[in-house]
Amino acid sequence: MDLELTDEEMHLYSRQILLEGWDIEAQEKLKLANVLIVGCGGIGCTTAELLARAGVGKITLIDADTIEMSNLQRQIAYVEENIGFYKAEILAKRLQQINPHIRVESQTVKLDEGNAEAFIAAQDLVLDGCDNFTSRYLVNQVCKQFNVPLISASAIGFQGQLFMVEGESACYECLFPKEQHANENLRCADSGVLATTPNVMASLQAHHALLYLGLGKTALKQKLMLWDGLSMKQRLLAFEKDTDCPICQAR
Ligand SMILES: [Zn+2]
Repeated sequence: MDLELTDEEMHLYSRQILLEGWDIEAQEKLKLANVLIVGCGGIGCTTAELLARAGVGKITLIDADTIEMSNLQRQIAYVEENIGFYKAEILAKRLQQINPHIRVESQTVKLDEGNAEAFIAAQDLVLDGCDNFTSRYLVNQVCKQFNVPLISASAIGFQGQLFMVEGESACYECLFPKEQHANENLRCADSGVLATTPNVMASLQAHHALLYLGLGKTALKQKLMLWDGLSMKQRLLAFEKDTDCPICQAR
C-alpha cells in the first residue's frame, strides 16, 4: 500500500489534518496502522466505525456471534434485516462502505488459545470490547506476551471502564487478579445496559486509539478510567504493577 496520502484521502481527512497538533504525518501513521478489534458488540461497532472514518489503514474484526434482535438497541452498525448474520461480516461491510480507502478483514471465529497469537502478534494495537472475562484475560495475556499495546473498554449498566496496557506497564491481571474473578460469570449479554453506555466508552476508546496511533500518546497507560453514567462523573485511578502477576512475570 502507498504510504503517502492520495489527493482524495487528503480531502476526506482534511478536517483532521487542519487540526493544530495533528498533521499529515499523524494521518499517515493512521494509514499504516494495523488494528485488531475484539468483539463486534456495543463497543466494537462504534470503535470500529470511528477508526474507519478517521482513516486507520487496516482494521481486523473478530467475533463469532450472530446478530440478535436485542442487540439493535445499542449496537449501531446493525439493522433488523441483519438478524441472524455474523456481526463481524456485517460490520466489515459497513466499514468498507464508510471508507473504501481502508482495508477491513472479518473473522467469524471465537478468539481462543489456539488462534490468539496469530491474530494478535502482528498488530500495532488491539482494542478489546468483548463481553466475557475469558476472552479479556486471554487478550491481555497475548498482548503482553508479544508486546502489543492494548486498550480495553467495558460497559455494564450505567458504568464504564477504560485503560491501556503498553510496554512495561501493569496489565489487566495486575488490576483484576484472575482468582478473584474465577466464579464470576457476569457477561454483558446477561445484564442490563443503557443504549448510550457502551457507545460512550467506545468513543473514548477510539479517541485514545487515535491519540496513540497518530501522536504516540498513552494517557491511560496504567490508569483506570471509571465513567459513571448516572452522575456523569469520570475518575482516573492510577494502579501499580502486581509483583505476583503471572502474566507480567512471564515476560
Ligand atoms: Zn500484570
